[in-house]
Amino acid sequence: MIDLHTHSTCSDGSDSPTRIIELAAAAGCSAVALTDHDGLSGIGAARARAEEVGIGFVPGCEVSCLFSPGTMHVLCYFAEPGEGPLQDQLERLRSDRDTRNDRLIARLNELGIPISEELLREEAGDATLGRPHFATVLARLGAVESYQDAFDTLLAKGGPAYFPKAFIDAPTTIEAARGSGALAVLAHPLSTGLEPAELERQVAELADAGLAGIECWYGRYSAEERQGLVDIAARHDLVATGGSDFHGTYKPDLSVGTGTGDLDVPETALVQLTARRR
Ligand code: AMP
Ligand code: FE
Ligand code: FE
Ligand code: ZN
Repeated sequence: MIDLHTHSTCSDGSDSPTRIIELAAAAGCSAVALTDHDGLSGIGAARARAEEVGIGFVPGCEVSCLFSPGTMHVLCYFAEPGEGPLQDQLERLRSDRDTRNDRLIARLNELGIPISEELLREEAGDATLGRPHFATVLARLGAVESYQDAFDTLLAKGGPAYFPKAFIDAPTTIEAARGSGALAVLAHPLSTGLEPAELERQVAELADAGLAGIECWYGRYSAEERQGLVDIAARHDLVATGGSDFHGTYKPDLSVGTGTGDLDVPETALVQLTARRR
């Protein structure tokens, strides 16, 4: 068994990168990928621990791509910290987020709310600051009635403290990943909310753009849904991959390796993925 989709404290998970490696080994995984959102900062620590523990390790990240309606998540495997087009895109998204967070703090201060970078940092730890941290701190300060109220009255699109963030689309992510020697895989394809025929059309287009695989064995999908995705992968010569989307205590129903309990991603997924690297 393997797990090609996990999140650590480097994005929005509750466990450190090293802990995720330990959990994967304890679950009986022969390999695990760390796929934090929009960043590669956990890769070094995770790899070092994987070598100590004697488990296979795949460096990666998960990029939120603009897609209407909603977002489309693209997993990038064999992505290393350092130089390259994918890394440049991640840096662009990160620095835009910093600017956006500064603006958001300034706007909230203008509205008389004493929120600060320090308070947000206390809440977020090492993680990338985002609106959920703002909402939590706003609720704690008593500036809003609840976490959800923070979105409803201030942070949501159209609200007085809404700032859009920089975006990237899936084709650009796929191309950047390839330029960096990485492989792009469509994460949890059913989250796109597309009807089966339209999903398949989109997948075919992304395959033409260089997509390497789609995530079929996903913890929260039924056996039928997983098989349907495996069939789509086969029709478009894509690798069928899978993972738990582990987030620690933030998604307490998911475990590394076994997902909601019955997940068992075959090692062949990683063998096939590895074979696609040039
Ligand atoms: P950000 O990446 O900083 O724009 O934050 C996006 C996250 O904010 C989403 O993943 C949700 O967790 C949360 N979020 C966005 N819009 C809302 C909303 N209207 N109500 C509650 N949570 C929201
Ligand atoms: Fe996440
Ligand atoms: Fe995702
Ligand atoms: Zn994820």
